[in-house]
Amino acid sequence: MIQKFAAKLLRSIPLTADTYQLDFAWASEPVPYEAGHFFLLEVEDGGDKVTRAYSISSAPSEKEFFSLCLKFLPGGRASEYLKNMEIGQEVHFQGPFGHFKLTDSKKDILMVATGTGIAPFIGMVPTLLEQGFKKKISLYFGVRFEEDLFYLAQFKTWEKKNSKFKSFVTVSRPTEKWKGLSGRVTEHLEPLDIKDCEVYICGNGDMVKTVKEMMEAKGAQKPDLHFELFTSI
Ligand SMILES: Cc1cc2nc3c(=O)[nH]c(=O)nc-3n(C[C@H](O)[C@H](O)[C@H](O)COP(=O)(O)OP(=O)(O)OC[C@H]3O[C@@H](n4cnc5c(N)ncnc54)[C@H](O)[C@@H]3O)c2cc1C
Repeated sequence: MIQKFAAKLLRSIPLTADTYQLDFAWASEPVPYEAGHFFLLEVEDGGDKVTRAYSISSAPSEKEFFSLCLKFLPGGRASEYLKNMEIGQEVHFQGPFGHFKLTDSKKDILMVATGTGIAPFIGMVPTLLEQGFKKKISLYFGVRFEEDLFYLAQFKTWEKKNSKFKSFVTVSRPTEKWKGLSGRVTEHLEPLDIKDCEVYICGNGDMVKTVKEMMEAKGAQKPDLHFELFTSI
């Protein structure tokens, strides 16, 4: 059920120079949500009400708080507000919203994200592992520079916990020090066989459009093709 609620900033964890995990404590009763859902944040800016969508990056099994994973855009109205929030400060949300959710399907899962598009998957993967999901989960995560990478230790922990989970991290403009995959995420998706696979794509509009078209060309279709676009709404 969609609710209006308040939450207090519990902590702000830097992930990169401009990307932060913000954990919020519920000001009253926790609001039930599913992995992949988003909340609408409402802030006042110069007398205007500014509303922005943010995917929830915590697993619903976490009852004490919920997390968001945000890139602070210089001059962005919500970004500037959130960046300057004090610990304990209250902010208003609505939600949960969205159709970018796990299903009961027992197929392999392919997750594709760039940048903060990783947010919903940070809630989905532990949810699947908690449920004892038996099929393969492959997470492809692309960023431009090595310094844009985050949550890599989290991926390693999940890989150790469950051999069915595997992450593929790629940097499109790496330095010579980078030993991992390089190039755009799409290059690494090209050879994949996605038959009997559920596909989830999340990130900026261009990447989502390109990967969606690539997956459709490989035969993916509704209800096995899920995507979330981080456009301004
Ligand atoms: C369903 C959904 C879920 C989302 N989840 C997340 C999330 O988990 N984490 C997250 O960081 N964002 C997420 N977004 C994007 C978020 O809602 C805001 O659009 C973003 O934070 C910018 O808001 P702002 O008020 O700071 O900037 P604005 O004041 O709206 O814009 C500032 C400037 O930045 C440009 N801009 C706007 N969005 C982007 C962008 N994504 N990349 C580069 N430039 C941009 C604008 O064109 C403008 O020039 C999500 C969007 C949707 C629709």
